[in-house]
Amino acid sequence: MKENFDVIVVGGGMVGAAVACSLGGSALKVAVIENALPQVFAPEQPHDLRVSALSIASKKILEAVGAWGGIVNRRLCPFRRMRVWETAGDTEFCSDDINYPELGYIVENRVTQLALLDRLRDFDNVELMCPAAINKINYSVGSSPEVELGDGRVLSAKVLVAADGGQSKVRQVVGLGVTSWDYNQHALVIYVETDYGQQDITWQRFVPSGPQAFLPLTGHYGSIVWYNSPDEVGRLKALSNDDLLRELVATFPDCLGKVNAILGTASFPLKRQHAQSYVKPGVVLVGDAAHMINPLAGQGVNIGLLDAAALAEVLIDASRQSHDLGDLSVLRRYEKMRRHENLKMMTVMDVFYRVFSNQVLPVKFLRNLGLGLAERILPAKNKVMRNAMGLEGNLPKLARGEPII
Ligand SMILES: Cc1cc2nc3c(=O)[nH]c(=O)nc-3n(C[C@H](O)[C@H](O)[C@H](O)COP(=O)(O)OP(=O)(O)OC[C@H]3O[C@@H](n4cnc5c(N)ncnc54)[C@H](O)[C@@H]3O)c2cc1C
Repeated sequence: MKENFDVIVVGGGMVGAAVACSLGGSALKVAVIENALPQVFAPEQPHDLRVSALSIASKKILEAVGAWGGIVNRRLCPFRRMRVWETAGDTEFCSDDINYPELGYIVENRVTQLALLDRLRDFDNVELMCPAAINKINYSVGSSPEVELGDGRVLSAKVLVAADGGQSKVRQVVGLGVTSWDYNQHALVIYVETDYGQQDITWQRFVPSGPQAFLPLTGHYGSIVWYNSPDEVGRLKALSNDDLLRELVATFPDCLGKVNAILGTASFPLKRQHAQSYVKPGVVLVGDAAHMINPLAGQGVNIGLLDAAALAEVLIDASRQSHDLGDLSVLRRYEKMRRHENLKMMTVMDVFYRVFSNQVLPVKFLRNLGLGLAERILPAKNKVMRNAMGLEGNLPKLARGEPII
């Protein structure tokens, strides 16, 4: 027996779960297929290594779909200040300058995902299938996409949403190509206990080998991101925690303060990847399935949540007008809202990456000048800040605090 849905979301990570929550309470019948449930949260657990800086736009989307409370009730660390510097140039952004209480929030990815999955269970029109494995995806233009699950269930939908991450199986099966390249840099994430209490600043220093960043966590904890060549990250990761701590203290700036202990490490290769198209008849890509961006300025999941909000807006609008949800003309409206915006963000990150990893003297001079000017020209500085907070650009309704249902 085939089960028919309007929308099947493959992947119940942060972005897929946000798509489903945004469609929660609508007239659409939605299924979410997720491999594995995240571990239940308990406040005494140490922080996870995977954390993200969520923008104000992301907060607005999560509030609009009713999941923000689930984050606040678990754990988050707001930050009001952001400092960026290198040898000579130095600039600090502060939320007071644009009359906002915060610039953003550091949240463990699992916390965001759990808050969204909890919220999903409130909606009668959404079915979460988890843990679930996909045996086969049947796709051909002109017929509804089908998903065969490991337990024998066969699901069919008007639209199949690929929210299954950077290695998206859906994207590969339906033949949507990507353009990608490696940055030849890895990010070493180090979870530390610091002498300082909870901080309200996130900072990033640029040195020739790559950026060094600090993200505050609740209590006396922080997340350090040490960008370096794959070989050097491999060497650092192989050290004992005591040896790594010694290298960390010797290399990182004094503002880190005293680090009492290293509590965990993980490393990630940095890759840029962008789907050449986000849509095919009956199929659409969101989040990392559509784009992977340099984490330098912490925007990956933020742009993914904007995808989720835009897609839900387009699908609900189309269903109100009794349009075929899987029709290319409908799905292209979503692509038009998001692909160019995402490309812009990826390009800005690349320019940033290239300019700050360049040791040619005129470039060094210009970037120091840039940071110096950014510090002095307030309107330009505020514009950069508003962009990073997700307050500028072509925003979907949920990110502007407007309802879609
Ligand atoms: C070092 C680092 C730091 C980062 N920092 C930030 C930051 O500060 N801010 C920010 O915005 N972004 C940041 N990012 C990026 C962010 O982590 C990603 O953009 C985000 O996780 C993408 O979410 P997603 O839901 O699209 O994909 P994923 O998180 O990859 O989720 C995909 C989901 O699909 C499920 N799945 C996969 N295949 C299947 C299948 N076949 N069947 C069923 N389920 C399936 C998986 O189990 C998973 O739950 C960072 C990334 C890195 C590497």
